[in-house]
Amino acid sequence: MMNRYMIESPHVPEKCTQVVNDLNAAGYLHFFDWGCKDNNHTGWAIIEAESREHARQIIPWYLRDQARIVQLVKFSAEEDEHSKKS
Ligand SMILES: [Zn+2]
Repeated sequence: MMNRYMIESPHVPEKCTQVVNDLNAAGYLHFFDWGCKDNNHTGWAIIEAESREHARQIIPWYLRDQARIVQLVKFSAEEDEHSKKS
């Protein structure tokens, strides 16, 4: 079963080109939006993956330790999912 995750992956300004090149080579560049032009050197992406660890694999290895990964769900107002305990 696939889950949705938000990846938040910061990098130092000196790594911009390398990060973009590495994600492009891995085929994941089109998932990402970047704060670099606003002087916030972070990439954000929402992706589908089987697990948090699979989502983490998308991030270049040298950035994985600093990355934040959040599983995302949608709430339905009618079903009031947010009030259920999981
Ligand atoms: Zn950058």
